[in-house]
Amino acid sequence: MRQLLLLILLFFAGQWLVKALRRAGDAADAPRNGPFDAAGRPGPNSGNAGAAGGAQAQSRQLAEPMVRCATCGVHTPQSESVVVAGQRFCCTEHAERYAARPTGRTAR
Ligand SMILES: [Zn+2]
Repeated sequence: MRQLLLLILLFFAGQWLVKALRRAGDAADAPRNGPFDAAGRPGPNSGNAGAAGGAQAQSRQLAEPMVRCATCGVHTPQSESVVVAGQRFCCTEHAERYAARPTGRTAR
């Protein structure tokens, strides 16, 4: 039983060694080529670049504000929304429905 445990331990040790060797080889082949250093941690410059990229992607996503339909509550991009009487709608159908309903009920 002890030999089996030893074998398993050796197996893991060997795997770790192979991984370490491969990592060292990668570092030697392509030094400081990627955003990660030899240890697999983000490099000193990758943090800033990543943050800037993320902010850029986020600003691109939020470039078009979403507006809420006054009839069904669905959020639609502003360019696709329909504005009637100061209210925004996801489609003309909802705008017409909103305009057609009795004014007394709009206030609830
Ligand atoms: Zn709607």
